[in-house]
Amino acid sequence: MNAIQNDPYHSLRHSAAHLMAQAVGDLFPGVKYAIGPPIEDGFYYDFEFAEPIKEEDLERIEARMRELSEAALPIERSELPREEALNACREAGQPYKVELINDLPDEEVLSFYRQGNWSDLCRGPHVSTTADVRHFKLLSIAGAYWRGNEKNKMLTRIYGTAWNTAEELDAYLQRLEEAKRRDHRKIGRELGLFTFAPEDVGPGIPLFMPRGEALRHTMESYVRETQERYGYQHVWTAHLVREELYRKSGHLQNYRDVMFPPMVDEEAHVSYRLKPMNCPSHMTLFNVSGLKSYRDLPLRMAEFATLYRFEKSGELTGLTRVRSLTQDDCHIFCTEEQVEAEFSLALKLVREVLGRYGFANYSVRLSLRGEEAGGKYVADDDKWAKATDALRRALEANGVEYTEAAGEAAFYGPKADFQTKDVLGREWTASTIQVDFIQPAALGCKYIAADGSEKTPVVLHRAVTGSTERFLGLLIEHYAGAFPLWLAPVQVQVIPIADAQLPRAQEVAAALKQRRYRVEIDSRSERVGLKIREAELQKLPYMVVIGKRDIENGVVSVRKRGEGDLGAMSLDALIQRLDEERAM
Ligand SMILES: [Zn+2]
Ligand SMILES: [Zn+2]
Repeated sequence: MNAIQNDPYHSLRHSAAHLMAQAVGDLFPGVKYAIGPPIEDGFYYDFEFAEPIKEEDLERIEARMRELSEAALPIERSELPREEALNACREAGQPYKVELINDLPDEEVLSFYRQGNWSDLCRGPHVSTTADVRHFKLLSIAGAYWRGNEKNKMLTRIYGTAWNTAEELDAYLQRLEEAKRRDHRKIGRELGLFTFAPEDVGPGIPLFMPRGEALRHTMESYVRETQERYGYQHVWTAHLVREELYRKSGHLQNYRDVMFPPMVDEEAHVSYRLKPMNCPSHMTLFNVSGLKSYRDLPLRMAEFATLYRFEKSGELTGLTRVRSLTQDDCHIFCTEEQVEAEFSLALKLVREVLGRYGFANYSVRLSLRGEEAGGKYVADDDKWAKATDALRRALEANGVEYTEAAGEAAFYGPKADFQTKDVLGREWTASTIQVDFIQPAALGCKYIAADGSEKTPVVLHRAVTGSTERFLGLLIEHYAGAFPLWLAPVQVQVIPIADAQLPRAQEVAAALKQRRYRVEIDSRSERVGLKIREAELQKLPYMVVIGKRDIENGVVSVRKRGEGDLGAMSLDALIQRLDEERAM
């Protein structure tokens, strides 16, 4: 019921799904109906067609929907006893509806909604006539298994969108276009950033080309430098780990589905796993690098670690969902008393990093334990209460807006997720800070407290950008490929007008490289206009054009992405300008 109360479009979009189903029934007699719910921004309906349909059919279906909308058919609710309802669905040749009824509890009242000669088993609610559904568009066709189970039959899903006004519909369609234009898979291809070789390397395992690697390197160096400033120590742990460690940590029991299968060393009777997360490796490193005293804490251990997760092949999308991902992972070992200060420090770091990437707006979602003490939540009430208060105090002291979600915490401790919005208004969870009372104890982490007793440290798991791959996907879409100067894989393109200017071009490029700029020279014997156009399509921030006159006058001609010709200036003036912009 909550979805209905919270979503003002619920009835409209559900009715749009019915309208589409009715139109499909008129055009494809004998079609079988599965389910057709409203979803975010629209609706879908799953059908079983006798013959596959094509994208072109959507227009016909939409036209029929318009006729039915203009006919202003009243939408009427009725109830049927279970047996009659079953018979009606059997007679209509609708096996999926029969299955749905059979799965409903006996006490459920079976309601149907009728419009004209078409009716559907449905809980409703709906708008009052088909004329209320006027501003809609069908968007796409996809395959969908009955009940989402790949063992079942593959059905045909048609997606559409529906809104209250023509203006709303237009704005939404424009947003869709913009999202397509910014799609990181498309831009990644156009700018030569990354690719996939599913047949040779494997699905969901991206390969980065030089420009993509330059981006990764810049992102990671930036976070690394920032972490060093905040007192983090970087470590390195291997991609392979003995399976036994994941049994101790609990991952093998709770996380098995997303781990790659084991690699077995038959002679030594040992199994290894590809690392799905770093925590057990870092905790082991904490344990084996000498007994710690309270004076060693807090100890902030960071790593850019490539992890391997066996995501379902159907869920792999671009860089957003991959099987090899590089986390900017960190584990902070501290005392209970230090949780607040450490969380506060991590908050500052996350805010600084997100701000650098232009995400000024974000909110924090604090996931807490539910009311029911015990249950899935381990560790004692006192620990939970202390940690929860510490997180709240830190958020308030830092002036961070936050909402609380009771019952959403992981079993091992409360956590804070940073939700940010990209330019299209889509929400992303970028950073996470998670308090953990359990794993350090399971893996035997200890320190000697001030009173000489042995204690288990609390661990904060923290990721700033999540994974390099996913965050890069977000950045590509956020900037539409036009990265700010500090991040751009190629910052300056030097373009000699003719071969005679090539030596000077090389001199200029060398001077810029000396100042650690990423520079390329376009020495092809193409017209300068074409070279400039191509550099613009590649969204390179600066172009330095060098002609005969520039050399005579001791200047370079500078063009900037989005601003065009900046005119001639000395190389020193250009460098000063670049230095200022890079530091922004
Ligand atoms: Zn319905
Ligand atoms: Zn962790």
